[in-house]
Amino acid sequence: MSEIRDKALAPSGEKKITWARRNMPLLGSIEKELSATKPFKGLKITLSVHMEAKTACLCRVMQAAGAEMHVTGCNPLSTQDDVAAALAVGNSRAGGIDVHAWHAATAEEYERHLMAALMSGPNIIIDDGGDLINLIHTKLTHLIPDIIGGCEETTTGIMRLNSMMREGALKFPMITVNNARCKYLFDNRYGTGQSVWDGINRTTNLIVAGKNVVVAGYGWCGKGIAMRGRGFGARIIVTEIDPVKALEAMMDGFDVMPMSEAAKLGDLFITATGCRDIITREHFDIIKDGAVLCNAGHFNVEVDVKYLDEHAVKREEHKSNIMGYTLDSGRTLFVLAEGRLVNLASGDGHPVEIMDMSFAIQALSAKYLADNRGKIPVDVIPVPEEIDTAVALKKLAACGLSIDSLTDGQKKYLGSWGV
Ligand code: NAD
Ligand code: SAH
Repeated sequence: MSEIRDKALAPSGEKKITWARRNMPLLGSIEKELSATKPFKGLKITLSVHMEAKTACLCRVMQAAGAEMHVTGCNPLSTQDDVAAALAVGNSRAGGIDVHAWHAATAEEYERHLMAALMSGPNIIIDDGGDLINLIHTKLTHLIPDIIGGCEETTTGIMRLNSMMREGALKFPMITVNNARCKYLFDNRYGTGQSVWDGINRTTNLIVAGKNVVVAGYGWCGKGIAMRGRGFGARIIVTEIDPVKALEAMMDGFDVMPMSEAAKLGDLFITATGCRDIITREHFDIIKDGAVLCNAGHFNVEVDVKYLDEHAVKREEHKSNIMGYTLDSGRTLFVLAEGRLVNLASGDGHPVEIMDMSFAIQALSAKYLADNRGKIPVDVIPVPEEIDTAVALKKLAACGLSIDSLTDGQKKYLGSWGV
């Protein structure tokens, strides 16, 4: 039995899903193929991904491919209640799905929803950030024998999987969807690059041009955020700990400095490191009055919101998703979306066409697990190259583009070592 806020919200959610679906040609073609062959027939899939319209489309593709779906969100603030309702209720083409998610779930409710989505005993899991993996390997170990494997959507989830593997803790194969080229080159860079600014702009309604914007972390997400920030006319300052990435940022034309210096200059701060304690007390002490702080990395520990919650002399919501913290110096700093992923907690996340590519990889990787059950070693494994290539070719075709292929003479030339 689903746990959602209100079934009556389903028509609004269904409209969002229909809009996303019509702009997701890759998932559409995969649904056509897999609904004929039903690779997930007889299999249960538990999915924990941001519960919004694009994710709903992925759930319906897997359902059409024969899976019994049990789904939940992966962040308490990114669940959209109308979408959760539409998925649970279903429509004339797709039956209702077992959904456990509501917006702004407390920590206890969030874990209860994850547990409920796992209760049926999944054969495949789709995780975003490692919450399912963590629960299965700690509190629900009895589920492990029935699990063929799973797929992980994001960078931080893969860091956690690698730690588990190093400690010999991982008990079934996990495919690193994030590390497919058709994922991180587009989703992390262009997806985050666009959606983070969408989240900030729709929340603050402030001008970006002419501002000093500090981007912490120049990985795939940070690069996208910096690139699009420049497009808005911001002066971008990058902070890094990796000397090569720092040099890359410098040669891309951005200022590079430690956070202790950037803190004095920034009007807007965006963290995207996947690390913790990026903006902390020492920085709050020197950041300008009125500065805006937000986070695009996985957890809400990049900006030390806990410190602000405990030490601000005044805490006041100025607008939905904008919390003002007045410090004893009299300065007020504004934190967006509780320091959680600003693009998802304060927006709709990545653009539809980006998630079409990411979720095409998810669907095909899950099919790979089903097709190869019992043959895949217990390890953290990359997305097979043929899936990455197939998704790129499908995307090119959807864009009406075609490319060259190597002639026999070129293949011979590239494979030879003589002059
Ligand atoms: P990445 O590994 O490519 O980049 C992270 C960068 O941060 C690296 O260059 C690293 O050197 C730098 N870094 C680490 N610690 C730092 C510190 N203390 N100070 C400054 N820089 C530091 O990872 P990515 O793919 O860009 O992902 C970053 C985070 O964003 C992850 O947590 C990931 O899960 C998350 N993510 C969010 C979204 C979204 O929609 N908001 C999308 C994809 C990924
Ligand atoms: N559990 C984490 C989730 C990490 S979010 C949390 O605490 O919030 C990072 C992932 O969200 C990215 O890898 C990206 O693929 C995914 N994402 C971004 N926009 C999305 C959207 N609109 N719908 C579903 N997933 C999205």
